[in-house]
Amino acid sequence: MSTFYVTTPIYYVNDIPHIGHAYTTIMADVITRFRRAEGYETFFLTGTDEHGQKIEKSAAAQGITPKILADRVVERFKNLWQILDIRYDRFIRTTDADHVAGVQHLFRRVLDKGDIYPGEYRGHYCVSCEGYVPETAEKSQSGNKICPDCGKETELLTERCYFFRLSAYEEPLLRFYAEHPDFVQPASRMNEVISFVKMGLKDLSITRSTVKWGVPVPDDPEQTIYVWFDALSNYITALGYPETTADFSRFWPADLHVMAKDILRFHAVYWPAFLMAADLELPRGELIHGWWLKDERKMSKSRGNVLDPHILLKHFPADAIRYFLMREAPIGADANFSHQGFITRINTELTNDWANLISRTGGMIKRYFNNRFPGKAAYSPTEDELREDYLELENEVRAFFDSYAFNRGLERIMEYISRLNRYIVEAEPWKMAADESLQPRLEAVLKTLVRAILSTNTLLAPVIPRSADRIRAFFNHDSRTFGWKDPGESFDVRDVEPLFPRVDPEAFFAEETQSEHAEPSPKETTMSEKPQTPEGIATIDEFKKIRMVVARVLAAEKVEKTDKLLRLTVDTGSDTRTLVAGIAQYYTPEELVERKIIIVANLAPAVIRGIESKGMILAASDKDGRPYIPIIPEETPVGSIMR
Ligand SMILES: [Zn+2]
Repeated sequence: MSTFYVTTPIYYVNDIPHIGHAYTTIMADVITRFRRAEGYETFFLTGTDEHGQKIEKSAAAQGITPKILADRVVERFKNLWQILDIRYDRFIRTTDADHVAGVQHLFRRVLDKGDIYPGEYRGHYCVSCEGYVPETAEKSQSGNKICPDCGKETELLTERCYFFRLSAYEEPLLRFYAEHPDFVQPASRMNEVISFVKMGLKDLSITRSTVKWGVPVPDDPEQTIYVWFDALSNYITALGYPETTADFSRFWPADLHVMAKDILRFHAVYWPAFLMAADLELPRGELIHGWWLKDERKMSKSRGNVLDPHILLKHFPADAIRYFLMREAPIGADANFSHQGFITRINTELTNDWANLISRTGGMIKRYFNNRFPGKAAYSPTEDELREDYLELENEVRAFFDSYAFNRGLERIMEYISRLNRYIVEAEPWKMAADESLQPRLEAVLKTLVRAILSTNTLLAPVIPRSADRIRAFFNHDSRTFGWKDPGESFDVRDVEPLFPRVDPEAFFAEETQSEHAEPSPKETTMSEKPQTPEGIATIDEFKKIRMVVARVLAAEKVEKTDKLLRLTVDTGSDTRTLVAGIAQYYTPEELVERKIIIVANLAPAVIRGIESKGMILAASDKDGRPYIPIIPEETPVGSIMR
C-alpha cells in the first residue's frame, strides 16, 4: 500500500491557538483524509514547539515552570483539534523524551561528519524574537539595533556556540531544487527560495548558551540546541528516528510539510541542508499557504484582531469552519476573513444548497415511498446525464484536491449541487406523486438524487467529515470510496437534526460584538417598512429594476411564537428560497402549498424573527391591511417574469 505522510509545523506554546493554526491544521487533516479515501496509508503529525527563551520568560513571569506552561497550552491545542475533528496520528512535543534523544543523535551525527563546529557568535540579539537581527537593521537613539520583526531594542551579545556549515550546502541545495522543481508549492515560493540561496548562504549558529530551556548539546551541557535545529527534527523523531522503526522506514521521507509562508526559509533551506548533512532523504514536498487577514488587515496580537475559532464554534458546527477555510482561500494567497462573508457563505452553500437538497430528498422518499422503493424505476436521459456529470465532476475535483486547489474543487462541487437542486425543480416530483402512472419516473428521480448525494458526499467528506458521516447515517449507506454510489431499493431515512442550521447574522452580531472595528451587520427590515424611494412617477428603468417572478410554494409553516408570520419555501425556477410573509391570519399553510404566487425576487434579504427572508410575496391589500394573493393560471411556468 502506498503511504502518505503529512505534517503541520509544531506550534509555539507562547501563543494560543488562533484561526491561522486552525487553517494549517485543517488543511493537513483534509489532505490526510483525502489521501486515505484514495487508498493511501497515511500518517498525520502535528504538535508543539516548547523550548526557548520566550517560554522560559513567560513561565517565570507567571511563577510556573516552562513545562507546566507548555502543558497548559498543549491542552488548548489538543482541545481545539478535537472540536475541529482533526485526527492526527501523533501529537509530538519537543519536550518528549524520544524527541530530545533523537535531536541529540542528529546533532552528534552531523558533528561527527564535520558539518557542525564550535565557534563564537557576536551579534545583535532580539530576545523577543529569539534571534540575531541582520547587520543592516536600524539603530535606536540609544545605539542599539532595532529588531525589524517586532520593533524592540536588541542586545549586543557575544557567545560561544556551535555552527552548522550551511555555506557548504548552497550548491547541493540548488542542485536539489533544479531536480525537484515541485519541491515547494506554489511555484512562486520555490522561486523565492532559489533566489535566497543564490544570494549566498552563511553558516548558521545552532546552539545557545544564553538559553537554558532547551535540548542540551551532547557532551556540552552548557549549550542548548537552538530552536530550529530542535524544532524541525520533530518530523523524523516523531517516526522513531534514530531507530529505524517500522514507522520511520514506512513513512520517511515526508510527502508533505504544510505551513504558512513566514517559515518557508527554515523548511525549504535549513531543513533539507540538515538532512543532507545527516545523509537522510529529503521531504518530497512542501505546501506553503498565505495568511488570513481579518477585514483586510493582518491579524496580530498587538492589533488585538486575532480571530479565536472558539467564537465561531459557539454558533457553527466544526464542519462550517473547515468548509469556509478550504472554500475561501486560494492556495498560497492571502485570504480575507469577515464574519459577514463567513455567515453568508455557510448559509448559502451548506444550509440552503447542500443541507436543503438532502432534507428535501429524504423527505420525499419518506412521503412518497415510505422509505422503500418498489424497484420499477423508469430512467430518462436526464438521469444518465447526472451520472455522467458526476463522474466528470469527480475526476476534476480529485485533480484539484490533488494539487491542493481546495477552493476550486469545492466550487465545482457546489455547482453540481446547484444542478441537483435545479433538477428537482425541473422534474417536479410533487406532480409525479399525484399521478399513479408516473410512479416509476418518481422513483427514478428520487433514486438518482440519493445516488448523486451519496457520491457527492464522498468528495465533501475530507472537508466536512462529521456531516458526511451524518449523511451516510441518514440514508443508512456506509461507503467511503469514490465512485457513483448505488444504495439499492430499501431505505431507512432517519429523522435527524438539521445538518447546518441557518445562523441568523443579526443574532450572531448581537452576541459577538466586535469591539475594535465592528462590522456592519445586515439591516433588519420588517414587512411593514415603507419603501424609501419618493412617491410619484417611476421611470420604466426604475420599474425594470424590480424582478417579479412566478414561484411555486413548496412548503409553508407558521413561524413559531408569532400569529401573523408564515415561512414559505418557494421554487423560483432558478432556486429554492425562503420567504417570510405576514399573512398567517388570512391564509393557512395548507392552502398555499403547491400554489403559484408572484414574488419580488431581487429584494435585499431581510431577517425576520431570525429567518432570512429572500424576497417578498405580492398581494393586494385592502384598507384594513387584509392581503389578497392573486391567482396565477396553473399553466404559467414557474420562473416566468412579470412585466
Ligand atoms: Zn524582535
